[in-house]
Amino acid sequence: MTAVPPLPSLALVEGVRAGKVAAIARLISRVEANSDEVEEALAEIHRHTGKAHIVGITGVPGSGKSTLIAQLCRAVRETGRKVGVVAIDPTSPFSGGAILGDRIRMSDLNADPDVFIRSMATRGALGGLSRATVPAVDVLDAAGYEVVIIETVGVGQDEVDVVRAAHTTVVVSAPGLGDDIQAIKAGVLEIADIHVVSKCDRPDANRTVTELKSMLGLGLKLEQGGGWRIPVIPTSSVSGEGIDELLSAIDGHLQSMKESGELAERLLAMAEMRLLKSAEGMLRDRFEAERKGKVRSIAERIIRFELSPRAGARLLLDEIQGEINGQGNEPA
Ligand code: GDP
Repeated sequence: MTAVPPLPSLALVEGVRAGKVAAIARLISRVEANSDEVEEALAEIHRHTGKAHIVGITGVPGSGKSTLIAQLCRAVRETGRKVGVVAIDPTSPFSGGAILGDRIRMSDLNADPDVFIRSMATRGALGGLSRATVPAVDVLDAAGYEVVIIETVGVGQDEVDVVRAAHTTVVVSAPGLGDDIQAIKAGVLEIADIHVVSKCDRPDANRTVTELKSMLGLGLKLEQGGGWRIPVIPTSSVSGEGIDELLSAIDGHLQSMKESGELAERLLAMAEMRLLKSAEGMLRDRFEAERKGKVRSIAERIIRFELSPRAGARLLLDEIQGEINGQGNEPA
């Protein structure tokens, strides 16, 4: 199963830094495959990051994110910058097969070597987000993409988390998807630096804009530390309305954070999030590896009422801890 790759991932770093699309795509695939071998390459990549403006774009399925992102990519290209997109494929009940459509809609951009679009599957319920997402953003950053967009589906905490991997977060709401502003259900509205009301060519869009604005006026903060005022921007991917304004707001948000000093705080929060997510992942991997062969016998004791489920869980963790300590004492 773990076939040795022909070329060590570390050898791909040079190609990535030179902006070679094949090297970028290959390294991201290695990251997705989650081999230990890629870690060294990612550490090297990480040293060359910090230049890209990372923009998280989230909203419920059907809110028009992919269509909007395609337009935004064009607008970014018009400013001469390279743009990368990491789109999270929601391999969940929410997906509804939208992804293929997304690819087609974005396909005319695929001909442009300065636009890199990569879809990623979320794997399994437990990991939630693809662990490869943020490392993939690093790869694009190190490859010289000046703007890197993370597209996620705003339906739950995991998506909120990934958006916290961004400098700037855009929350997309759309008219006609129900009476409420959809994002509020997932607690996503609070994380917006910029609100978009998409499909503003539709007559019912005004209502969504009004609703959102009044909601923001009611409880949600309109202003962030550093004095950034959270805008509500109506956009239409049909008429192109609002797209340039959105890009200006995205650029303006970063600029504002730089000027106010807020950026340093945001960078720390992003690093903290990554650190915690990585540590959680490692803990989970360790747990999965070490629990093998220990679960059954404890479960048997539970059904004999010798142990409560919680006492069993504690015992399992003690046994795992014992094993880990034992490994730690082994001579190197
Ligand atoms: P996503 O699931 O959030 O990525 O949404 P999509 O980009 O796939 O768009 C969902 C649907 O809304 C599609 O049928 C689009 O054609 C439509 N749509 C997207 N943007 C607009 C827009 O600006 N105006 C109108 N009228 N429809 C749009």
